[in-house]
Amino acid sequence: MEAEFDVGIIGGGPAGSVAAAYLAKAGLKVAVFESENFPREHVGESLVPATTPVLLEIGAMEKVEAAGFPKKYGAAWTSAEHRDIDHMGFRGLEHDFRAAEILFNERDQPGVDRDHTFHVDRGKFDLILLKHAEELGAQVFQGVHVTRSDIADDGVTLHVRVGGRQVEVPVRMVVDASGRRTQLGAQLKLKISDPVFNQYAVHTWFDNFDRTALAVDDAKADYIFIHFLPVTDTWVWQIPITDTITSVGVVSQKKRFKEYGGDRERFFWETVGSRPELLDALKNSDQVRPLKTEGDYSYGMRQICGDRFVLIGDAARFVDPIFSSGVSVAMNSARIACGDIVAAAQAGDYSKERFAGYERTLRRGVSNWYEFISIYYRLNILFTAFVQDERYRLDVLKMLQGDVYEDDEPKALAAMREIVKVVEDDPTHLWHPYLGSLKSPSAKPTF
Ligand SMILES: Cc1cc2nc3c(=O)[nH]c(=O)nc-3n(C[C@H](O)[C@H](O)[C@H](O)COP(=O)(O)OP(=O)(O)OC[C@H]3O[C@@H](n4cnc5c(N)ncnc54)[C@H](O)[C@@H]3O)c2cc1C
Repeated sequence: MEAEFDVGIIGGGPAGSVAAAYLAKAGLKVAVFESENFPREHVGESLVPATTPVLLEIGAMEKVEAAGFPKKYGAAWTSAEHRDIDHMGFRGLEHDFRAAEILFNERDQPGVDRDHTFHVDRGKFDLILLKHAEELGAQVFQGVHVTRSDIADDGVTLHVRVGGRQVEVPVRMVVDASGRRTQLGAQLKLKISDPVFNQYAVHTWFDNFDRTALAVDDAKADYIFIHFLPVTDTWVWQIPITDTITSVGVVSQKKRFKEYGGDRERFFWETVGSRPELLDALKNSDQVRPLKTEGDYSYGMRQICGDRFVLIGDAARFVDPIFSSGVSVAMNSARIACGDIVAAAQAGDYSKERFAGYERTLRRGVSNWYEFISIYYRLNILFTAFVQDERYRLDVLKMLQGDVYEDDEPKALAAMREIVKVVEDDPTHLWHPYLGSLKSPSAKPTF
């Protein structure tokens, strides 16, 4: 069958739209098949600056700016810990562990021409990107669901459900950008549950929430806030969505959520109640959406490319949202993969080896980012200490900017790994009681 499109993309989230934009710009015939009708709600609202070069390169930055999303200049962490735990651990790491913050413009980042990124309403943001891809020449089909991809030597047949009908669309190759539904990865049985992270999130939006309630510096109330709770492996995000609306989500171990018998209301309110000042601020505001849950979200894939297919964004891998990296990984994985896809199309050869560069680069970025997350969960006071330590601050900031694809291991990671080991091996160490229960970094990414 003659191919109707060079590339068929499953899913029109940030990964799919950005890929469609790059491919259409390069002159390829590309189609996006998206199950939902946009705008649709989506979790993952706080961006990192590594999205900026991608938005500039595909020409979507002006549209994103015009949408008036709140500007994000930095990130802040607060802790419930009120005891003075300074001087407890390592010489040179005596810091205030109750709060830490970073400002993105403390470090120049290649390709980033501004001091901020954005917090976004994903309904609006994802629609802007999808429409942008369409304007660049991609064909976008919404409300249609890809049910299977038959990959053969000479092409791929996408099976697409359109209303009650099933149609077949022949394409030269398929890009899976179906997010955590992992359409193709599941079909090809490539998916592996993460051995360490089995977190669960419950989240919603509040109107008139006082963002300064837990802030050390009121002027920075529009940063993203990560509030540690005095509950193992549990934290809360606070993300501005508009002038008055704030997204708030609790992330905890799935087994804790199960202890509540799936009662998301009781789970959410009792968990945030462990920080009484947070509970008060939430009670004094108005919840404007029902609580939503997100579970089973940590996994890798045995392969992220093969003959005539590539997986990008969450369809390739998802770990944990602690560093707001997901949308950036979605957009940058699309960017990197599209370099290889355009070259493959030019050569008329869509074999797996053509996508090896993409696989290598993504693996390297994700490996560093995965280990930072693991160490964060293992000993989060160490993370706060490193953020505040001149020797490591820029290294940690680089990772928080999402600038993870070009270098090998940052020096802060090696130092953190060593300290975690010392604390783990010494039950009398003053930091020992602060160890979280998720034991890594032995678990490396699986793809
Ligand atoms: C609790 C939580 C908090 C998070 N917080 C952040 C954050 O603050 N910042 C951040 O950057 N990231 C965050 N993330 C991650 C972020 O949500 C994702 O990484 C990001 O949305 C990935 O984009 P994507 O395009 O790969 O997938 P998605 O945005 O999920 O898009 C996939 C699209 O594919 C469509 N689709 C699926 N299956 C099919 C099919 N078979 N046929 C057709 N269409 C299909 C879906 O409808 C969807 O629109 C968070 C994630 C979680 C779970």
